[in-house]
Formats: sequence, structure tokens, C-alpha cells
Amino acid sequence: MPDNRVRVRFAPSPTGRLHIGGARTAIYNWAFARAMGGDFILRIEDTDPERSTQENVDVIINAMKWMGLSWDEGPEVGGEAGPYFQMQRMDTYARALETLRERGAAYPCFCTKEQLDEKRAHAEMQEGGYAGYDRTCRNIPTADAQARIDAGEPHVWRLRVPDDHGPVEFDDAVYGHMSFPIDVMDDMILVRSDGSPTYNFAVVCDDANMGITHVIRGDDHLSNTPRQILIYEALGFDVPTFAHLSMILGPDKKKLSKRHGATSVEEYRDRGYLPDAIVNFLALLGWSLDGETTIIDRETLCGHFSLDRITKKDAIFDETKLDWMNGVYIRELSAERWVELSRPWLTETVALGRSVATGANVVPTPNPSDPNAPQPEPVQIREAVREAAEAYVAEHAEALEQLFPLVAERLQRLSETPQKLAFLFWGPNVSLDEKSVRKVLTKDGARADEALRACRDVLADTSRAWEAISLEAACRALAEPLDMKLKNLLQPLRVAVCGNMVSPPLFESIELIERDDVLARIDATLEAVFKA
Ligand code: GLU
Repeated sequence: MPDNRVRVRFAPSPTGRLHIGGARTAIYNWAFARAMGGDFILRIEDTDPERSTQENVDVIINAMKWMGLSWDEGPEVGGEAGPYFQMQRMDTYARALETLRERGAAYPCFCTKEQLDEKRAHAEMQEGGYAGYDRTCRNIPTADAQARIDAGEPHVWRLRVPDDHGPVEFDDAVYGHMSFPIDVMDDMILVRSDGSPTYNFAVVCDDANMGITHVIRGDDHLSNTPRQILIYEALGFDVPTFAHLSMILGPDKKKLSKRHGATSVEEYRDRGYLPDAIVNFLALLGWSLDGETTIIDRETLCGHFSLDRITKKDAIFDETKLDWMNGVYIRELSAERWVELSRPWLTETVALGRSVATGANVVPTPNPSDPNAPQPEPVQIREAVREAAEAYVAEHAEALEQLFPLVAERLQRLSETPQKLAFLFWGPNVSLDEKSVRKVLTKDGARADEALRACRDVLADTSRAWEAISLEAACRALAEPLDMKLKNLLQPLRVAVCGNMVSPPLFESIELIERDDVLARIDATLEAVFKA
């Protein structure tokens, strides 16, 4: 490896989903590697056997792929510094311990848990409190210690923190100069009695053996860093540059958690966010290009990312901004890509639409006379309908591209599609929104039935092409002879065809529905609302 090549790593523990904070750490490492022409390594820290699962490994890897954060070395792609799962690197930790033993920098400690608990409890009652392990086993002569090990006495291995060491100092790329007094540095455990390495020991061995030049990680690890530096020094390894990232807080300035809503990358994917928007949004939680640019594509991010523009101020997760940003990225999609990314929601759209199509004529029947009447149950989708919808979406991807212009300007999340477009699949039926009925159809003096009948006649005229432009022109021309405002003329049609007053563009929608179905919906509405 050339000396000056930047090598960074993202090192998740597969003990849960990929949290939004972890995703940001991954993005920063990835973008920094790309900006510096270096290597980005993915390492799975799976040494906690109780909490690490293969399922979580898969979820993390899929989330990384979904965000488009490709790694140069790691699971699936391999690399010269592998293996990239800590459980497969046990021999390297054993060798590192051997080195420390030879140098007298590590010693076995035979204190039992009970003894340690007792010492702690005792120390806590004294003035000054507990100041770490009291180093009882530090001075056991080597031969005696070896005899006890040979006799099978349980023991851990501890770091012998040098007596003459001054404060542990380093220059953090984000926090600046840091200094930790040596007397608070415990003779920390490196290897547990079952032979497994502790986090601090494994991470140093791995970072050193993998040639990591910059450690970019959450500031929850800031207090581990001086400990890790002592281990680097004991092993004789170069200490990398550290960059600790501040917390991500919710709008209430508390650490982002489940209480604030979704926290994992997969949840955001399932809620209809685009990978490009997530990467852009998270990149700006603590870093900025120039303090003002908000839409930053991957190329720009990878071209300009630098550690010196990371702020140590805590970042606030503003979901309204994310929604806005996601809308911007949705509008930039090609129709083809929109269909590709929207499959689950297009399936839902078709299934929801068909559930109305196969239901009673008008579902639910509105009750305009009593605005407080209980709302009808939401439409239930049967499993068979969903499966058929899935097949339909798979087979009609190209035709579905026509729907994109109807919603492109109106979506903030891909998951909003079903609610906006299901009406296209209602066939001859209509599911009327109660509030729209009240505000548009039954409002005093609205003459909505008259408007509907007039528009129906125009739409029923088979001599006219079934195209948005000509249908719209013909319907608009009715306003004058009827002496009606355009709004009063066309809103009833919108409600009768689309079910509510906030649908996508009306005539573009009508063009996509069969003529007979449009006429049937108008008839059903007239019948249900005006008993015509
Ligand atoms: N496995 C650690 C974590 O998930 C990573 C620590 C590090 O980056 O050094 O918090």
C-alpha cells in the first residue's frame, strides 16, 4: 500500500438495523475516500455473539447498496486486508496480544468479578471515588503468573499503561486539539477470560492491520480514542487521524430515537424516500459545501467532501426539509426510473383501485346530510387482488410510465402514489370523499348536478377524440352558456371521476380512463348524491 493513500472504513456492529446516524458515518467515510482518491472499506464488527445476527449483516449490506455507497474492500468484494468480519480475525488479535506480552505491555489479571465488584464498592465509599482497576495483578512476577495460567486459572489480559506517560493528546479533525489526563486511563482489558478481544483492542488491531489512515466515526467513541491511542503506542503502530462526528438530534434537540419516528435506513426506504435524497440530506447533517447549497448530487459530494467543513455543532434532523428535498429528487427522475423505484406503491395503487372497481357501485356511500356521521371503513385489499396487481405492474411497466407526469409535481414521497392515483383503476365505480361531496357537490347554490350532466353530455359524444386537450376545451366551453364559473363547472366533474377535489390534472386523468367508465362514474355520483 503506498504510504500516502487515504484508507477509511465504516465498521458497523450487526446488532441492529443501520441507524440514520450510522448511515451518515458511512456516507462521510465513503465521500471522503472518493474525494481523496482513496479506499473505502466495510468491516463488520460482529464480536458480540449475543447481539450480532446474520440478518442484521444482510440488512446493513442491503442498506449500503440501496444508498449506493459502494465499498472497495469488505464483504462480498473481498480485498487484500481481509477478512472483513472480526470473528474471522481472531488469529490477528492473538498475535497482537503475543506482541504486547513480549514487550511487557500486557499482563494477565486473575481478579475475579466478585473481587473487582468489592474493590469498586469499597473505593466508591472513599474520598475521590473509584479511579479504575487498582492494578493488583500488575506486579505478579511473570513466572508466577505463567504458573497460574498453566494451572488453568481464569484470567483476562490488561494493558500496562506506562507510568511515565504524559496526557494522551491528539488533534481531532473536527474537535481540534484534545488532551486526556493519563491518570484516568485504566489498565483496560484487552482480551476477556474467554479469549475474545474487547472492542478497543480489536478495533485498533484491525485499523492498524488494514492500513486505516483516518478514523471517521460518531462522537460517542470520543472517550475511547485516548484508550485506543495507548494501544497503538504499545503495539508500535502509527496513530491515524481521528474525526468525530457530532450527534444527530430530533427537532426537540434530544438524541434522535424511535420517539421521533423512523430511525433506520430501511424504514426511510419503505416510507418512499429516494436513495439520492437520503444521501444528500444526511451529508448535510454536519457538513456543508459552502454553507448554502442544499441540493448536492453524488458527484459534487464525492468531488468536494472534506473533513475541514464538518461542524462540531449537533445536527438537527428536520423531516420537513427531507420531504422537500425528496420531492426535488422525485421530479428529477425519469418516468422509467420512477416506475422502477415505485413498484410496491404502484402495486398498492392498482390493488386499491381494483378493490373499489370490484366493490359496490359507489363506495363508500356518502352521507352529505350529516357531516358527523362515522366515516366508512377504509377499502380493504384482498390478498388475491394484491397478487394480481403485482403481476399487472410487472407486465405493464412501460404503460405505467404515463402516470408519472400526473404526480411528478405533487409527490414528496413515493408512498403517496396510491392515495393520489388509485382512482385511475376504479373502473366504473367511484369512492367519494365525504368532505369533497359537501364542499363541491351539495354546497348551497352550487348547481353541481347541472354541471355534471352538461359535462357528461360532452364526454359522451363519441365523435370527439378521447384526448385531454379536446375534452377540456369542450367542457370549458360550457361555462358561458351555463353562466357558471369554471370552478363550479369542473370541480363537480373532478369529484365524480376522481373521488375528491385535490386530484391530479383532471383531463389528463380522464384521458387515461375508459370513456364508459368515466360516464358510469358520473351516473353513479348523480344517483348517490342527487338521487337522479
Ligand atoms: N463497531 C463500532 C460501532 O458500531 C464502530 C466503532 C468505530 O468506528 O471505531 O459503534
